[in-house]
Amino acid sequence: MTVLSHVIDGAAWDGDGPATQEVVDPSTEQVIAHARRGTAADVDRAVGAARRASADWGRRTPKDRADALLAIAAVVDEHAAELAELESRNTGKPQGLAADDVAGAADTFRFMAGAVRAQVALAAGEYVEGSTSTILREPVGVVGAITPWNYPLLMAAWKLGPILAAGNTCVLKPSEQTPLSTLRLAELVADVLPAGVLNVVTGDGAVVGAAIATHPGIDLVSVTGSVRSGQAVAAAAAATLKRVHLELGGKAPVLVFADADLDAVADGIVFAGFGNSGQDCGAACRVLVDAAVHDDLVARLVKRVEAMVVGAPTEGEDVEMGPLVSREHHARVVAALQRAHADGARAAVGGKVPDRPGFFVEPTVLVDIPAGAACTTEEIFGPVVTIETFTDEDAAIAAANATPYGLSASVWTENARRAAGVPSRLDFGTVWVNDHLAFATEMPWGGFKSSGYGRDLSAYALDDYSRTKHVMVKHHA
Ligand code: NAD
Repeated sequence: MTVLSHVIDGAAWDGDGPATQEVVDPSTEQVIAHARRGTAADVDRAVGAARRASADWGRRTPKDRADALLAIAAVVDEHAAELAELESRNTGKPQGLAADDVAGAADTFRFMAGAVRAQVALAAGEYVEGSTSTILREPVGVVGAITPWNYPLLMAAWKLGPILAAGNTCVLKPSEQTPLSTLRLAELVADVLPAGVLNVVTGDGAVVGAAIATHPGIDLVSVTGSVRSGQAVAAAAAATLKRVHLELGGKAPVLVFADADLDAVADGIVFAGFGNSGQDCGAACRVLVDAAVHDDLVARLVKRVEAMVVGAPTEGEDVEMGPLVSREHHARVVAALQRAHADGARAAVGGKVPDRPGFFVEPTVLVDIPAGAACTTEEIFGPVVTIETFTDEDAAIAAANATPYGLSASVWTENARRAAGVPSRLDFGTVWVNDHLAFATEMPWGGFKSSGYGRDLSAYALDDYSRTKHVMVKHHA
C-alpha cells in the first residue's frame, strides 16, 4: 500500500521522519491507506514555503484571489463524487451526508470569493481636521489550520475559504484519522493555486499540531477540535503571541415546549442528534422537554429511531447512520453509555453495540436520568440523546445555560412570543427555532464560553483572518 505524502510548496513531500500512520475505514476496520506522520521539521519546511508564497498571494487584488477560489469551487464540483466517496470511506458517514459536505465545501469557496470583493470598512474621510484617514485591510500572513475528523473536507473548506480569500497562505494539518480528502483537495488545486499557498502536513496533534501552534513563522493558528486541544493550542500560541481562532466542542440543548410540533421535534432530533453518528459539535444531544409532553415525545422519538437504517455507506443510499470514526472513539462512547447506565439512566431505545464489524453503536435515547449525571453535561460525541424535563420557561432556560459550552441550542415552540424571546436569553453562538443544525454560508458559526472564539462562515470569518491598518495623511498644517 502506498504511503500518502505531505503537500508542501506545490509538490509531494515524503517527509523528514520515516514514521507513518494507518488510515482505517471505520465501517470495515480495514486499513485503506497510510499517511506520513509529520515532524516539526516538516512544519518548518511548510512554513518556509507559505512565507515565500505570501509575498505574491498577499498582494494580489481581491478579484485575482476570488477567481482562484471560484476555480477551486469548480474543481471540487467536478470531483464531487470522488471526494464524497473518499470522505465516506474514511469517516464511515452515509453517502448523502458526504455529498452534502462536498457541496458545502464548494459553496464556502464560492461565497468567500464574492465576499472578499464586497468587503466594507469605515469610509475614508477627514475624521481629524486636516488629515484624511483610510483603512487598509491586509492579510495576517501565514495561517496554521488544524482540523478535526468529523467533517474533514468541510472543515478544511471553512478554514481555507476565508484564509485564502483574505490573502493569507496556509499550513493545514488534517486529523491524523482522516487525512484523505484534504490531501486529495491539495492535489486537485495544485494547478489553481501558486506553489506554497496551501501546504498540508499530516500527523499527530501533539507533534505537528503543537509545532504549528509554537512556530514563530505562523501568524495565526485556527483550530476546530476539542476544548482540550483548543486550550493546548492557545497556551502554546501565547509564547509567540500569535492570534488564535477556536471552534471547539458543544453540548447543544434542545428546548421542547409543550406547544411544539412533536413530530417535527422527533424528526429534528433524528437528523441532528444521530446524523453523522452524533459526532457533531452542534449535535442535538441534550433534550429538555416540558414534563407535560415528555412521554408523548419519547414515544414518537423511539418509533422514529427504531426505523432508522444503520450501516456502512456502501450498503446503499438509504443508510441514515454509520459507525463512529475510530476504535478509540468507539471505546469512549461505549464507556460513556456504561457510565450513564451505572448512574441510573435507562435506554428507551438502543444502548447496545451491534454484533458486526465496524465501530458501530446503536442510536440511543436515554431517559430517567438523575439530575447532573455526566451524560447530560459532558460531550459524548456519539449517537446518544438524553431527555430531561422542566416545568416552566425560566427553569428550561436556566438548565440550558448551565453548561460550560456555548456553541448552539434550539427552541421548539409554536408560540410567537417564545420563539422571539427565548433565543435572546440563551448563551449560545447559534440558536435555531423549530430546526437544528441548519446552516447558511452567509451566517456566522462559532461559540461562546468554552466552545471557543472566532467565527467560521460569513463575512465575519474574513475579518478574523485579516488585519486592519489605519493610514492617516496630514494634508493641512
Ligand atoms: P481533537 O481536539 O482531538 O482534534 C482536532 C485536531 O486538533 C486534530 O487535527 C488533532 O490532531 C489536533 N490536536 C490535538 N491535540 C493537539 C495539540 N496539543 N496541539 C495542536 N493540535 C492538536 O478533536 P477531534 O476528536 O478531531 O474532533 C472532535 C472535537 O471537535 C469535538 O470536541 C467537537 O465538538 C469539536 N468540533 C467542533 C466544531 C465547531 O465548529 N465548533 C466542529 C467540529 C468538531
